[in-house]
Amino acid sequence: MPDSKGRFGIHGGQYIPETLMNAVIELEEAYNHYKNDPEFNKELTELLNEYAGRPSNLYYAEKMTKDLGGAKIYLKREDLNHTGSHKINNVLGQALLAKKMGKTRLIAETGAGQHGVATATAAALFGMECVVFMGKVDCERQALNVYRMKLLGADVVPVTSGTATLKDAVSECMREWTTRIDDTHYCLGSVMGPHPFPTIVRDFQAVISRESKAQMLEKEGRLPDYVLACCGGGSNAIGSFYHYIEDKEVNLIGCEAAGRGIDTFETAATINTGKLGIFHGMKSYFCQDEYGQIAPVYSISAGLDYPGIGPEHANLHDTGRAQYVAVTDEEAVNAFEYLSRMEGIIPAIESAHAVAHAIKLAPTLSKDKIMVVTISGRGDKDCAAIARYRGEDINE
Ligand SMILES: *Cc1c(COP(=O)(O)O)cnc(C)c1O
Repeated sequence: MPDSKGRFGIHGGQYIPETLMNAVIELEEAYNHYKNDPEFNKELTELLNEYAGRPSNLYYAEKMTKDLGGAKIYLKREDLNHTGSHKINNVLGQALLAKKMGKTRLIAETGAGQHGVATATAAALFGMECVVFMGKVDCERQALNVYRMKLLGADVVPVTSGTATLKDAVSECMREWTTRIDDTHYCLGSVMGPHPFPTIVRDFQAVISRESKAQMLEKEGRLPDYVLACCGGGSNAIGSFYHYIEDKEVNLIGCEAAGRGIDTFETAATINTGKLGIFHGMKSYFCQDEYGQIAPVYSISAGLDYPGIGPEHANLHDTGRAQYVAVTDEEAVNAFEYLSRMEGIIPAIESAHAVAHAIKLAPTLSKDKIMVVTISGRGDKDCAAIARYRGEDINE
């Protein structure tokens, strides 16, 4: 997967304007060349290890396991990476690819600012120009990350079209890319968009399951029974699943943001509430209104606040290979607080969605079952918002 047209079952593909076709073809050819180039892979591994701090730990959460009284729980600690999340895995891969392609400028979309910060970081490291498109509303909500990106040398362009949030930033990035493909690479932040992005981002994030599988075999001598990860566009989830897809005995569970509930309009649970559609260059499931327009989405977690899901997840759902559950704001906040107290690990509020499902699932399983939960990022960025959710106003 995918097939030669970039399709995962009926999903994926390249639904893009003619003006973007050349850029996408150039990218696909370059990627197909470099993905098998030993020199490229050696350089990337060195960057991941020496700069980003990989491999990330697979940590046995003993207190949590005992407290829940069921399955044995391991945490895959992507929160320990440089810049604080899994985003750096993909960004270093794409920045290196862009450099090999002779590009000198990176553009990226960002919602909460995590992918923008990671891209600005890689641009600083590689000495590249960097422009980050960010919805104006998000710029205001995430002022600290805007400052970080500027500190790292990036230009941040506030996007005012549409709802002035993440989906509009993606649209703006695609528009910008069509006007300037000679020196510019679009460093897309999740397993979405037109082929080959869902494949490229997946391959760069697959390091998560490549490591966790080897670590699990070393620690337990067998594969886990469950792998859980939160799911926005789906990059940390597909990275966490990828090397287990062929191992049919491993249950794969993506945890979507239900927001205030999947029976309300304030949700971002795409697979649980969305319909088939075409947007941002791909066929997949999207949250849509009664007219088929992309619906406004909501979650307490800015990183899961995207109205679509990557095409490979849509296909894993169709085939039943992976299961997608919805987790509410309230459950995620409870899990955020639980993991902080129980293990001394403050997870990103995105990751807390996976923790919340683990808290529900583990006690229903016997003690000889093993579960891996990906902690996609650290929660420092979320402390003020969670305090506010609990009615406490702290200064950011
Ligand atoms: C961006 C982000 C996500 C959501 O993106 P995916 O592509 O679904 O992984 C999840 N967790 C963290 C910490 C993030 O920064």
